[in-house]
Amino acid sequence: MRANLPPPNKRLGQNFLIDPNIVRKIVALAELGPSDHVLEIGPGRGILTEALCHAAGRVTAVEVDPRLHAYLETRQAELPNVELVCEDALAYPVESLPMGTVVVANLPYYISTPLLFRLLDQRGRFPRMVLMLQAEVADRLVAKPGGSDYGVLSVMAQYAADITKAFRVSAQCFRPRPEVASAVVLLRTKEHTGLSQQEEVAFRALVKAAFAHRRKTIVNSLRDEGYDQKHTAEALTQLGLSATARAETLSLDHFVELSRLISVGSNEIA
Ligand code: SAM
Repeated sequence: MRANLPPPNKRLGQNFLIDPNIVRKIVALAELGPSDHVLEIGPGRGILTEALCHAAGRVTAVEVDPRLHAYLETRQAELPNVELVCEDALAYPVESLPMGTVVVANLPYYISTPLLFRLLDQRGRFPRMVLMLQAEVADRLVAKPGGSDYGVLSVMAQYAADITKAFRVSAQCFRPRPEVASAVVLLRTKEHTGLSQQEEVAFRALVKAAFAHRRKTIVNSLRDEGYDQKHTAEALTQLGLSATARAETLSLDHFVELSRLISVGSNEIA
């Protein structure tokens, strides 16, 4: 017999999908087969979990809410290939999952950005991810230079993956209805990014520092974050960019090259 469904907890971002058509579209986008292992974050009441169990070989479903975890356990017989884990996804050791795991999730929006960074940090393990996000976050993920959506999230995510915004999802497809619009994105992670692990650390720090003072030029923003003003200006010139350029006008390739040039410059001085 099924346990009673616990009422939604707003604090945990519990807006449950109720539209089977959206579930089908999400699963189709993940291109799953019987040999695939799936990580689902926040299975909730299990609408997506059930479809994933049919499409994939094995599903690991990590849910933080013990009430929902207990509810899903009552459905274990219907979902024989799911491993139910009751844990905060931000603490779950994703590195214990098999290489090639596909991530499919209607993410809890209040932690979607740290979760995304955590998954991208382990991108060698996850060839693709199909994620439902707040539409505003999806717009930032695919943003190109020049617009107000373009920032640290855009550069760091596009560095790690090729990203497509697949479709928007109306608030009517959830219960309770979320107050924000939603969208589904497909991320195909990159095998090669052109930077070593050590260079990547410097790149990450540079991108954060470049956007730390959005209204300033990149030279001044980096200076305020401890970078040598002269080196930055010289590196920008080498890249054919103006010394008065702002971070939001630089492409991903510009940031990668700038990071390389600045690291070389600071090594020479040291
Ligand atoms: N997958 C279900 C669906 O599509 O109907 C539920 C999606 S709901 C937007 C987000 C789910 O993530 C909820 O079940 C919530 O309890 C769970 N959740 C929230 N914070 C979490 C965390 N830190 N770790 C794991 N799951 C979390």
